Amino acid sequence: MKDALSVLCLVLLVSVLEAAETKPNPANFIECLRYRTSPEYPITDAIFIADNTTTFLSSYLSYTKNKRFLSPNYEKLLAIVAAKHVSHIEATVICAKSNGVQLRTRSGGHDLEGLSYRSSVPFVILDMHNLRSITVDVSSKKAWVQSGATLGELYVKISEASQTLAFPAGVCPTVGAGGHISGGGYGNLLRKYGLTVDHVGDAQLVDVNGKLLNRATMGEDLFWAIRGGGGGSFGVILSWKINLVEVPKIMTVFRVNKTLEQGGTDVLYKWQLVSTKFPDDLFMRAWPQAVNGTKRGERTIAVVFYAQFLGTADKLMSIMKQSLPELGLKRKDCHQMSWFNTTLFWADFPAAKIYGTKYFLGNLQRLMQVKAKYDPENFFKNEQSIPPVHVM
Ligand SMILES: Cc1cc2nc3c(=O)[nH]c(=O)nc-3n(C[C@H](O)[C@H](O)[C@H](O)COP(=O)(O)OP(=O)(O)OC[C@H]3O[C@@H](n4cnc5c(N)ncnc54)[C@H](O)[C@@H]3O)c2cc1C
Repeated sequence: MKDALSVLCLVLLVSVLEAAETKPNPANFIECLRYRTSPEYPITDAIFIADNTTTFLSSYLSYTKNKRFLSPNYEKLLAIVAAKHVSHIEATVICAKSNGVQLRTRSGGHDLEGLSYRSSVPFVILDMHNLRSITVDVSSKKAWVQSGATLGELYVKISEASQTLAFPAGVCPTVGAGGHISGGGYGNLLRKYGLTVDHVGDAQLVDVNGKLLNRATMGEDLFWAIRGGGGGSFGVILSWKINLVEVPKIMTVFRVNKTLEQGGTDVLYKWQLVSTKFPDDLFMRAWPQAVNGTKRGERTIAVVFYAQFLGTADKLMSIMKQSLPELGLKRKDCHQMSWFNTTLFWADFPAAKIYGTKYFLGNLQRLMQVKAKYDPENFFKNEQSIPPVHVM
């Protein structure tokens, strides 16, 4: 009797585990989506069933930024809903919940661990890339940015509207507004203007009940949590209302290398002591890395010092001479440009400069100037193209 009971318990346990592992039927989920949306905003074109078709694969891969995770998890992934209207988000939340399916929201797809497009339990991806509109209001110095927009797109829109407004967010232009702002966000305007979330005034969020809320209707607790508490925990952000900040028309950037042999260790040590005392207009990073030495086959360490200054090169030179003369900064190391061009400089510079200097030798500087004049928004580009840096 005792043995029979044990076997029965085991059988029950196995069936419960199996039930938990069973993939829910995608058809039920899709039917629910159709039922929950209006034909005025048809959802059919937004749904990609997880199969081996090219359409599904291209929908999965477009925003899978960590190339380690190029293969979709067919076992667990039911579908991708690439929402085109807020009603699609609302329906996806409700239908995922009622079908016992986990929801992963993806905006720019830059989550390094792939949390926005991978899961160990049955799941659907709610992809926000179609919802990427940006409206900038110069007079109130505010903008609305939808989650699917990238930081690069936001920077372009701001610079089209004003030469003296900016937004303090991350360096990588393909990062999505959805995940970036949810996580806090920081970039080269950090010392002057703090974190990205310090400049969020309102948000539209679809909550766990599939209801669209704004700051007033979600309340201050939830509004606090979504500004830095990390994406994917509190709801789906449809859009952020952000406060833009003032920047001068001319800003200055530099990038200077110091190897161990050139006294890099001493400069790095002094940088640690002085960099927190710089004026807030100056942000300077140090990045030690292994590089080739002067002799063949020899390796050394070079510390790369990057800086961005809200002002002219002359003013920056005088600050550096006083605070960190050991760096030996020269006027020719300093490049004056608009805030928008600084974003291109940091986005394109590291890779393009290494390649460009080797390939174009002394012509790189001039090529960058020509590029800045004739294609300042960098329409024609690839991984090795010339960055449009204004060197004035
Ligand atoms: C190359 C690279 C450079 C980076 N540079 C910087 C930098 O300069 N400064 C900086 O601060 N950070 C930087 N980051 C980190 C980046 O800000 C975070 O990884 C951010 O979460 C990415 O947002 P995403 O929308 O692109 O990513 P996703 O992968 O789409 O999402 C990231 C997380 O947010 C959630 N999420 C996405 N969209 C929404 C939404 N609409 N509503 C609710 N939750 C959502 C996802 O579920 C996931 O958990 C960088 C990352 C990479 C890979």
